[in-house]
Amino acid sequence: MSEYEVVVGMECHAELLTESKMFCGCRNEFGGEPNTRCCPVCLGFPGALPVMNRLAVEHVIRTALALNCQITPNAKFDRKNYYYPDLPKGYQISEYDFPIGVKGWLDVEVNGEAKRIHILRVHLEEDTGKLFHVLGDESYVDYNRSGVPLMEIVTDFPPDIRSSDDARAYLAKLRAILTYIGVCDGKMEEGSLRCEPNVSVRVVGSDTFGTKSEIKNLNSFRAVQRGIDYELERQAEVLESGGRVIQETRGWNDAKQITFSQRSKEGAEEYRYFPEPDLVPLDITEEWIETVRASMPELPDARKARFIEQYGISAYDAGLLTDSRALSDYFEAVVKESGDPKGSCNWVMGDLARLQNANGRDITECPVTPGDLATMVQRINDGMITGRIAKTLIEEMYATGSAPDVIIEEKGWKTVKDSGAIIEMVEKVFAENPQIVADIKERGLTAKRGFLVGQVMKASQGKADPKEVNRLVDEKLG
Ligand SMILES: [Zn+2]
Repeated sequence: MSEYEVVVGMECHAELLTESKMFCGCRNEFGGEPNTRCCPVCLGFPGALPVMNRLAVEHVIRTALALNCQITPNAKFDRKNYYYPDLPKGYQISEYDFPIGVKGWLDVEVNGEAKRIHILRVHLEEDTGKLFHVLGDESYVDYNRSGVPLMEIVTDFPPDIRSSDDARAYLAKLRAILTYIGVCDGKMEEGSLRCEPNVSVRVVGSDTFGTKSEIKNLNSFRAVQRGIDYELERQAEVLESGGRVIQETRGWNDAKQITFSQRSKEGAEEYRYFPEPDLVPLDITEEWIETVRASMPELPDARKARFIEQYGISAYDAGLLTDSRALSDYFEAVVKESGDPKGSCNWVMGDLARLQNANGRDITECPVTPGDLATMVQRINDGMITGRIAKTLIEEMYATGSAPDVIIEEKGWKTVKDSGAIIEMVEKVFAENPQIVADIKERGLTAKRGFLVGQVMKASQGKADPKEVNRLVDEKLG
């Protein structure tokens, strides 16, 4: 069997974070009773006129700048004509030949190697309504989403994405950037970020491109990755058995982890694009662009580099921390209070991350405030509690939301520094373990010393000052 490689073009749709819809004053918010957030404009009533949402345009400019695109000063809107029940106007207002952003790129890291993904365009359009197909032959339509500002980001041709790992890295980076700059909440499960890979395969070494299929309804990074892997296998099998891959749209069945044919797509659709007569072209001035550029926050790559440089944490930790703006903000808030970047990093990436995963929580829902976590780190550093107690303490803080000092006081978890109390425990442990003591003293098996220290720590319920325990155990061993 020949060896095949996958070639992937990516189209991503991001619903923009604005108060109101793209061309009317209806609320732009996920959810709500069906058809309660619409008006004559977003329902496409005859004679209703669109009014442009300035913030939505600005969000696209911001995204285009973050993706290193050139800005089209006189970008314009066009009508994309087609009929579907979720599009009552019979056309979608979109951007055809003059999109707001063109020719950019996004740098990603895939398995430790840097890779540049080129971007063809970033444009603005309006979302459609949503259809619900009920078992049997009934379908319902909800127009709350109709007219929500939607941004489309398309990768350039020939595609730079050559594996499902590339695709995942691209999406993760794109989502991080969109959330950093505050234009989209990035929630794939709610559909506010939707990705449609165009997947084709070819024999490794070939310089022609195969026929592509487009995968829809992927609602997680994992689904995107699995969907691409599945298509690579499926299309390679078709070709290997002498068949022909047909151009089509395929859905993703998450339960079965397979793609399935939805509709074939021979040739390009004819949308009869023409300039939207109810809207004037945009006038994106240099001044406007510079204002947006000046208000741009620090982006993930810059923040990662700064974390490594400023805080001396590993590239790996810095990468994970800066994946999400909320998480990196949280970490920086802890560092600011604790004054200990490495200690803070260990707790955020270690025990706190574990508790968060176990509870399925996002950092924005974390019950431990940065201030409380910082206090805990300080209490370890100033010797008030041991690292071992801290592991229990953070669980208590997580479960109750109480401040660390309150819990330490209540539970009596302060480190025991009193030598007298520790000597008593050392004596007891030595008396209970004569064989081990003999092994160390007479046979020189010093590796067993750690066991004795561990037993003393255990006897103190983790509260004895480890330095003092070590000192006293050594003293006793002579
Ligand atoms: Zn409306």
